[in-house]
Amino acid sequence: MPTRKTKRGADRTPISGFYDVIICGASFAGLAVARELRGTGAKVLMLDRYEIGEKQTSACGIPTEWMKVLGVESSARQEFDTLVVHTPRGTSRLKLPFNFSTFDYPEFCKLLDAQNDATFETAKVEGRRGNTVVTDRGDVTAPLIVDALGWRRILDREDGYQPPDAPLSRGLEVHPKASSEDLAIWIDRRYVPAGYGWSFPAGDEVRIGVGSFDPTFHVRETTELLAEDLGEESVGYQGNWIPHRIRRATDGEVFFCGDSAGHCIPLTAEGIRTAIYFGIAAGREIRAVVQGAKTRDAALAEYARFSDSHEWKFRWMLRAQQLLPKLGPRAQRAVIRFCATRPMIRFSFRHYLRIAPPEFGREESGSGQNHRPEGASGPLEVDRIPV
Ligand SMILES: Cc1cc2nc3c(=O)[nH]c(=O)nc-3n(C[C@H](O)[C@H](O)[C@H](O)COP(=O)(O)OP(=O)(O)OC[C@H]3O[C@@H](n4cnc5c(N)ncnc54)[C@H](O)[C@@H]3O)c2cc1C
Repeated sequence: MPTRKTKRGADRTPISGFYDVIICGASFAGLAVARELRGTGAKVLMLDRYEIGEKQTSACGIPTEWMKVLGVESSARQEFDTLVVHTPRGTSRLKLPFNFSTFDYPEFCKLLDAQNDATFETAKVEGRRGNTVVTDRGDVTAPLIVDALGWRRILDREDGYQPPDAPLSRGLEVHPKASSEDLAIWIDRRYVPAGYGWSFPAGDEVRIGVGSFDPTFHVRETTELLAEDLGEESVGYQGNWIPHRIRRATDGEVFFCGDSAGHCIPLTAEGIRTAIYFGIAAGREIRAVVQGAKTRDAALAEYARFSDSHEWKFRWMLRAQQLLPKLGPRAQRAVIRFCATRPMIRFSFRHYLRIAPPEFGREESGSGQNHRPEGASGPLEVDRIPV
């Protein structure tokens, strides 16, 4: 269980007021949005129910290049150029065309948070009434609102996206103090009928987990089984639902990014770099609005178009996710051996990286310039944002 550092008692004063932008959720997607708004002069409020970096949300594995682009390399704990794939019929070592790193979540978030000038408050977001975000500490209003709250997509007025019926995978991991050289996955029905197990070493701890594409399959027992098979203790549990279907990136009023828009890649359940990638895209659109270069509606429409243009890639990954478990262990092994050939690795992993390429983070990032419209000083009033 995380140690709660969230404001308590007398510190938990009411919040209220008007802002230019409210970013709900201060993990990967939310911090990426805030980073793009640095230096614009916009009055930005970021909300999360936990302190930034307090509650780890993943195994924290990401292509190393993304860490460099974000300037957060010092939070890396281990780097890998090979992925080890275990199946009941043998093990393959896939030499990757780009490196992966595991990182320390609190440190990563702290480094990313240092790159914005938003105001942060801990508050539980409960919903929305028009341009007003309702929290357990009071109501706050802004014409530009971001939902980076994860799969629950709290600010959408549509209801009814609940596990186990919604397209969500189930993921759970344990964090024993241990070390290993290998970034490894297990495609093995002993651990999960549809999904995979993993071992992600990160310096002095190893993140061992199981993800099931079938939300009705409970992964606790088999996560413990995998840890036991690796001779490690099951301690430091961390789990969540993982969306495996892309959703509308706006509802015409709110920017959804990261897991709230289903921006997590099916089959691999890689959702950190995509949360950051779409967070950057939303942040750039919002920046154009606060700088007076675009209307809010035009920015929402452009962001929706950008997200939709990736839909086919997510659809193909979902097809692969649905197909792989249907193959028997022998066929799975044959597919993995074929994919492990050098040309196939290069081809498939390069295409895979291009779903959310690191170069995108480099382009025109956080200009540091104040381009607020002439005469603008306080928060942009709702009716001053051209819609
Ligand atoms: C066990 C597991 C392992 C994973 N491992 C990896 C991995 O190694 N690599 C990878 O790329 N992906 C991994 N993923 C997927 C990845 O964690 C997610 O896709 C990613 O975290 C999405 O980022 P996000 O910013 O959209 O949402 P989140 O990281 O879920 O952040 C949402 C934020 O919103 C806050 N919040 C939620 N509700 C409220 C509320 N009501 N009020 C206020 N704040 C709220 C939360 O505290 C949190 O800070 C893993 C997932 C799981 C479950």
